[in-house]
Amino acid sequence: MSVNCRQAESLSRFRTLLAALCLLCAGNFALAGETAVEPSGNGVDLLQDTTFDEDSRSSETSAAAEDLVEAVPAHPHDVPLADAVTTAEGLAEPLRLLEQDIAPGTAQRLAWSATELFEGVPVSTPVLVVNGELPGPTLCLTAAVHGDELNGIEMVRRVLHDIDPTKLSGAVIGVPIVNVQGFRRGSRYLPDRRDLNRYFPGNPNGSAAARIAHALFKDVVAHCDALIDLHTGSFERANLPQIRADLRNPDVVTLTLGFGSMVVLHSQPTVGTLRHAATMAGIPAVTVEAGGPAQLELAEVKHGVKGIETLLSTLGMVKKRRFWGDPEPVYYRSTWVRADNGGILLADVSLGSSVRKGDLLGTITDPMSNASTQLRSPYSGRIIGMARNQVVMPGFAAFHVGIQAEDVMLEPEEEAVSENDRNQETGGYVDGMSE
Ligand SMILES: [Zn+2]
Repeated sequence: MSVNCRQAESLSRFRTLLAALCLLCAGNFALAGETAVEPSGNGVDLLQDTTFDEDSRSSETSAAAEDLVEAVPAHPHDVPLADAVTTAEGLAEPLRLLEQDIAPGTAQRLAWSATELFEGVPVSTPVLVVNGELPGPTLCLTAAVHGDELNGIEMVRRVLHDIDPTKLSGAVIGVPIVNVQGFRRGSRYLPDRRDLNRYFPGNPNGSAAARIAHALFKDVVAHCDALIDLHTGSFERANLPQIRADLRNPDVVTLTLGFGSMVVLHSQPTVGTLRHAATMAGIPAVTVEAGGPAQLELAEVKHGVKGIETLLSTLGMVKKRRFWGDPEPVYYRSTWVRADNGGILLADVSLGSSVRKGDLLGTITDPMSNASTQLRSPYSGRIIGMARNQVVMPGFAAFHVGIQAEDVMLEPEEEAVSENDRNQETGGYVDGMSE
């Protein structure tokens, strides 16, 4: 679904438009979503294997169309996020966090320690806090929940150090490295190979992952009025900078549109993700995906920083008026194009490329037989994620195509497949769904 608005159009008008589009889309096709990876009780160990293949993936299902407009749990705050600054009254108050009081108009660096190494030495990680001189909401940024995802770390640093506390309405809290143990080892996972982002909101008596999740949730996330969780693609795949958001929640829509010019992918969060747990606790949350793991990619970092700073302006937390380009399309569906043969994958498109149905995306060449096969796009749309050039096995998810709604509507026969068929078509998984 392409949403094109001029800069001059007000946010509220845009929101109304989006809501209308939601309803429109709901009548026409089912949505791609992420299946809940259901822990048996919060924070209790997942029954399934938590190794490389299983735990890193989220399954894909097609949600019923009516789910799109179904009411979501009510926000516990009386005031919509969009009005949080304008309705804030009185003077800003000290922000109490991690047993410290941060006075209005000041910035502070705190240390948060979720766990101990087995030697008994605490593993602490910085928490950056800017408490504005004026009252308003508290916006939180978290990065490196997956320890090898570096772009978000630099985004948090840049955003937090750019804010003038004397001109801020509300507060911004940044946790640049949530999974400090994974970060030190250059790994996505915790030392026990668990994916921290499947254990929120956590459990103080559960596994190491559940305890860390619980500590972060209780010590930091519970103090937030809105949350942005920063990620990248996983396992040699990179994502076009994009926001993943459950657009059924009005406050999440406010957050999403506040970023300005960034692609939006509607997705229901997997149970256990920070995004899911925060939203369920009444804290609207989105995930920002930008680039790939284990690298610092300056263009992606700048893109993310620009989006977050635009959001601060859109929410009214900083006075500087900032409009950033035309809004990018909102994709309500996406699909992964997979390799049917093993071999060396070389791409013919790049991140952000617009493609038409049938366009060549990449070629896989068998290094032994020299036989080549071509991967072609099943839909018109945009490349929102893709594998780096590498050796692949059959079934490997290579290109993530955000599907143009118009394309879907024009080709109803494509949509006639049942949910089961679609799941089989995608293998029931979305690889590289980093979040
Ligand atoms: Zn991630």
